[in-house]
Amino acid sequence: MKASAFAYARPTSVASALELLVAYGDKAKVLSGGQSLMPAMNLRLISPEFIVDIGEITELRGMVVKDSVLTIGALTRHVDLLRSPEIAAHVPLLRDATSHVAHPAIRNRGTLGGSLAHADPASELPACMVALGATIIVRGPCGERRILAQEFFTGIYETALSSQELLVAVELPVVGKNSAHFFHEFSRRHGDYAIVGLAAQAVINHGQFDDLRLGFFAVGNRPLLAEAAGRLVNVAVTPEVLISASAALSEELDPQEDQQATPAMRRYLAKLLLGRCVSTLLSRPGLYAGAPS
Ligand SMILES: Cc1cc2nc3c(=O)[nH]c(=O)nc-3n(C[C@H](O)[C@H](O)[C@H](O)COP(=O)(O)OP(=O)(O)OC[C@H]3O[C@@H](n4cnc5c(N)ncnc54)[C@H](O)[C@@H]3O)c2cc1C
Repeated sequence: MKASAFAYARPTSVASALELLVAYGDKAKVLSGGQSLMPAMNLRLISPEFIVDIGEITELRGMVVKDSVLTIGALTRHVDLLRSPEIAAHVPLLRDATSHVAHPAIRNRGTLGGSLAHADPASELPACMVALGATIIVRGPCGERRILAQEFFTGIYETALSSQELLVAVELPVVGKNSAHFFHEFSRRHGDYAIVGLAAQAVINHGQFDDLRLGFFAVGNRPLLAEAAGRLVNVAVTPEVLISASAALSEELDPQEDQQATPAMRRYLAKLLLGRCVSTLLSRPGLYAGAPS
């Protein structure tokens, strides 16, 4: 199938893109890498009348580190995240996660901004944003808004963005001393969307977590910053503490049924990932005996 007919513009500044979005409102759609938008249009799941292609807006590209904050432009492609020395040095969790996003052809065109605005709950990068404590920067007719990642994702393919706003960049605190991360996902094949996944960022001192942020994905209608992590911070983590955190996590999950897994299987896999994550980060393989209760 082919997409319905649409009008098209390729502005070269954020200001002119916003003028178009204001003029066309709900009839317009932003085109970034096109890896999610074009299939949806070709299948006629959506039929926008006007496409605002932001690919020529150079101010949406690039990365910069300043005052321990890494700012990444919305048009940064997945392949750029994978190859960037700044990402490897300052937020290596993002590099590890991006290697699980789709396949090279898609990573060559898909963008960070597109992935976040698309907000697929099984997507790796939104979960990284909540785990890393990102701020999402959006610009619209009324100026700029800065939105915490955990407040940006509001539902399946839903975000805090209005149809008149552009996601322009994300800000990430650079990881400091004693930081460690964990990324793992269960999927049928490498590059497929996850059945369940976990992106975690921690600060560890003397064998205990000073901080632990657990970003689960494919366990509900949006990435989950698990509050159960609080049970593991500033305590000696014993098998009993881990079991209590696992039970608390189970209460927070709201897994969906689909062709890949039942809610019970997703719940089981999420708890399995929690156990693996904690024992890996604390380098205590014996802490977690195997199957979650
Ligand atoms: C076969 C296949 C497998 C895939 N596997 C995975 C996977 O395993 N994991 C994963 O995470 N993704 C996967 N993807 C999706 C891929 O990562 C996309 O690149 C990503 O979801 C969207 O990025 P994009 O730049 O292509 O956005 P587009 O497709 O251009 O846009 C996506 C949506 O975001 C909006 N948008 C884009 N940029 C902005 C912006 N700056 N401001 C406001 N709105 C914006 C668009 O209007 C559209 O609604 C897969 C895609 C395909 C085709």
